[in-house]
Amino acid sequence: MLINELLQLKFEQYKAQRKSQCCNRCQLRYAEDLKQCPYCSHLDEEGLAVLFKQKERSYLARRELGIWFLFFCSIIAASLLLIR
Ligand SMILES: [Zn+2]
Repeated sequence: MLINELLQLKFEQYKAQRKSQCCNRCQLRYAEDLKQCPYCSHLDEEGLAVLFKQKERSYLARRELGIWFLFFCSIIAASLLLIR
């Protein structure tokens, strides 16, 4: 059956994923088998501040995209209700 094959593929994909841990310094996730965080271990405090600024900009961009999706979904739902 197709569903069983899809579930098997999803399970294989899940098993292939490397376990991750959260960095105490930058709160980004990285592979558990690495000794140091690849995102912030080479950065000084100034570099870490830049990294936090990038994280904040990325968060705000994703948030804005979500707001746009909600807006367009509302317009589509409202137009479908009006057409009926
Ligand atoms: Zn880090």
